[in-house]
Amino acid sequence: MNVDALIVGAGFSGAVIARLLAENTKQKIMVIDSRDHIGGNCYDYVNQYGIRISKYGAHLFHTTRQDVWNFISAFGSWEPWEHKVLAKIYPRDSSDNFAYAPVPICIQTIQKLYDSSVQNEEDMRRWLAEETRSIKFQTPYKNSMESAVARFGHRIYNDFFHSYTLKQWEKSPEELDASVLERIPLRYNKDDRYFTDPIQMLPSCGYTGVFKDLLNHPQIEVRLNTDYFQERHCFNSVNFTVFTGPIDGYFASRGLDRLEYRSLRFEEDTFEMGDKDTVMQPASVVNEPSMRVPYTRTVEFKQFLNQRSTHTTLVREYSASNGDPYYPVPNERNTKLYATYQQLAERETEAERRTVLFLGRLANYKYLNMDQAIGNALDHWQQWKKDGMIKTRV
Ligand code: FAD
Ligand code: UDP
Repeated sequence: MNVDALIVGAGFSGAVIARLLAENTKQKIMVIDSRDHIGGNCYDYVNQYGIRISKYGAHLFHTTRQDVWNFISAFGSWEPWEHKVLAKIYPRDSSDNFAYAPVPICIQTIQKLYDSSVQNEEDMRRWLAEETRSIKFQTPYKNSMESAVARFGHRIYNDFFHSYTLKQWEKSPEELDASVLERIPLRYNKDDRYFTDPIQMLPSCGYTGVFKDLLNHPQIEVRLNTDYFQERHCFNSVNFTVFTGPIDGYFASRGLDRLEYRSLRFEEDTFEMGDKDTVMQPASVVNEPSMRVPYTRTVEFKQFLNQRSTHTTLVREYSASNGDPYYPVPNERNTKLYATYQQLAERETEAERRTVLFLGRLANYKYLNMDQAIGNALDHWQQWKKDGMIKTRV
């Protein structure tokens, strides 16, 4: 096969490296993906009601890295969009009097659920100091329960985080690294946006439009429905491979324990609304921290970029232990096991007598957001160039 570089996976990690190789070398690049579409977990499509749906859950782009934005904004077209999330909080008794409150926790959350007299940053700090007064966990916190209770106190922890995390990870926050709940910020002000990064955007023609542009280059060929492990023999002559699938899948024959991942199952319902601007939920994403329902959140896709349709489509997310691997599970067992896989990965180039590199959320076993996956690819590209791994075709 007349290909210089093989990229396994057409998500952001693979597509960014493919583009960099195409633009900076004369190499011929083949990108393969076992799925029937490009875009990895960011893939989206427009359904029969004209509403753009992200097949693998809502994706909001946000970043503090100007270099990432400079790179990715050249592909597709993007519009500013600030994401807001409400959580549906049920009372502790069995009544159905739920309230919607903003996540991350900010002044409005406290006003809505606990104390309407909290008005400004000083009140908020005082109120939280009171909530957390008797809590004495030592830093660094040992797990996500400690890091969350220390910041929010027991009430907020129980209302917002304990059960949601149990549903999402099938593990109590005590069994998860502190990093899981540290993803959720705490605001002392009235900023109820989900993210505060200076750059927050959505692609007007969807992420799929961005990927089409990224991969649209005469030196790049894309083959879908092509699984690396089944077709590996076809690529024996390729000297440079970047693998962005699950690292434990790549080394499955070595007999090590497998890494844990969480998956999601999506349940979709469409409703006729009549009016093109009418929506069903008070926010595009409603989190469901209560054990009263088995799903973790409901996304109303029509609300992103204020799409217009006579219908609306709601998608409920159910966490699952089987299915496509979406989330690495950060705990001690998996961190140690991943380190062993990483050692195998470092030796792989020698063993194969050709360059094999591992990149991305699944191959690096890291909870990477899109901008981090893009940034990770840009950073690795620079490092690989320094290390002399990137050859220009002669
Ligand atoms: P992936 O997108 O997973 O791509 C890997 C690709 O490799 C896949 O297409 C897979 O089919 C392919 N592959 C694997 N094995 C093989 C094989 N053997 N042969 C061929 N192909 C193979 N990030 C944000 O910034 N904002 C968000 O709002 C956000 N929301 C998210 C919501 C959910 C539910 C999930 C799961 C993730 C979310 N993310 C979000 C993270 C985002 O999806 C990732 O950062 C991004 O997809 C990582 O890109 P990647 O290329 O590393 O991995
Ligand atoms: N989380 C929670 N309650 C919420 C939102 C999040 O307990 O209302 C926890 C949960 O453990 C989740 C983690 O915080 O997995 C990170 O949340 P985020 O919204 O970043 O998750 P993602 O969008 O990556 O699924």
